[in-house]
Amino acid sequence: MDLTWSPAEQEFRADVAGWLQANVPSEPLPSGDTAAGFALHLEWERKLFDARWAVVSWPEEYGGRSASLWEWLIFEEEYYRAGAPQRVTQNGIFLLAPTIFEFGTPEQQDRYLPTMASGEESWCQGWSEPDAGSDLAGIRSTATRDDAAGGWRLNGQKTWTTRGAFCTHLFGLFRTDPSAERHRGLTYFLVPLDTVGVTVRGFGRLDGDEGFAEVFFEDALVTDDLVLGGIDQGWSVAMATTGSERGLTLRSPGRFMATAERLVALYRERGPDAVDGSLRGRVAQAYIDSEAYRLQTLQTVTRVTGGDPPGVESSLTKVFWSELDVSLHEIALDLLGFEAELESPWMKGFEFALSGPIYAGTNEIQRNVIAERVLGLPRK
Ligand SMILES: Cc1cc2nc3c(=O)[nH]c(=O)nc-3n(C[C@H](O)[C@H](O)[C@H](O)COP(=O)(O)OP(=O)(O)OC[C@H]3O[C@@H](n4cnc5c(N)ncnc54)[C@H](O)[C@@H]3O)c2cc1C
Repeated sequence: MDLTWSPAEQEFRADVAGWLQANVPSEPLPSGDTAAGFALHLEWERKLFDARWAVVSWPEEYGGRSASLWEWLIFEEEYYRAGAPQRVTQNGIFLLAPTIFEFGTPEQQDRYLPTMASGEESWCQGWSEPDAGSDLAGIRSTATRDDAAGGWRLNGQKTWTTRGAFCTHLFGLFRTDPSAERHRGLTYFLVPLDTVGVTVRGFGRLDGDEGFAEVFFEDALVTDDLVLGGIDQGWSVAMATTGSERGLTLRSPGRFMATAERLVALYRERGPDAVDGSLRGRVAQAYIDSEAYRLQTLQTVTRVTGGDPPGVESSLTKVFWSELDVSLHEIALDLLGFEAELESPWMKGFEFALSGPIYAGTNEIQRNVIAERVLGLPRK
């Protein structure tokens, strides 16, 4: 593997870093998981879009720069290094968009990608239900054909919908053939949240932000052009989204490298003599782990650009980055001692890091996948 960046890639890095230095807000924006913070984050997204930095790897016709995966990684490194705002459009641009590129009709691509990139329309993920989380194939929400009305009637309830209270659209799975085997008979729909019969109810997280919503569907009518990837084909379409969620795009190494660099800075600021000696080794190990994740990602990108799909290894990646994130924040809290109890970005980061082993498929489920599909161990 050649780890040197080409002159063009270095120039790309300098362009990104220069723009971010001139434009990243000097004060952090309020949390994007509050209504007011979300609106301010969307203004930031618009600014990124206008400068064509919102979706660098997308084709130019949709607002991107046709950047390579390598350049995208560079962009991410610089983005997190600059401490730029959290991407509240992430469920759209990182999860749904790759799925629309793969399964969407040209009309769907033209209709949804530009407004997603600009933040004009924002997307949430409607998969989990009160009785279907890990067991996604157990979802009960239905879509029933209504020929007279010319579409599908949605009924049921979704929950844990991140930023559902602030988004304009939801991508969700609904059961279209109740008689089919569990993984079959599901269909992937793109649903405007202002559809008659859809009710969104926001609710608070433990950290106080109203980051979640429950979404209720009562005979909500959606037309055929809102089906992504074919009737009863929802499981394979959803698995493509899942691959993006666990694999490359949702959590790039730049995020963890930037956190590791801040951790080292915190360690230095505290003064090595002032802290428990064992912390020195833990800080070093966390930095090494972040670097290992970066190198592993470079290897994945080499594979993917060579034509291989990310594959089930994305389960390994998901376990690694989510546990790394918890560890980076735990060490910071240990460095801060009692001060960690005060409202601090590290405490807020720690609270969110704790959810990493749960969202995007729990780590217990990922370990089942690794055991069965990577290691070839027998199913229990
Ligand atoms: C911060 C955050 C954001 C989220 N955002 C969204 C979102 O935007 N959209 C959305 O649809 N969902 C979202 N979720 C929901 C998330 O996908 C679910 O919480 C997750 O899939 C687990 O489902 P569950 O909560 O129903 O737990 P359960 O599936 O009930 O699991 C409970 C426990 O049992 C374990 N378990 C279950 N089955 C097995 C098994 N077969 N083997 C071993 N252990 C098992 C699990 O690992 C877990 O520890 C979010 C969750 C969090 C924490």
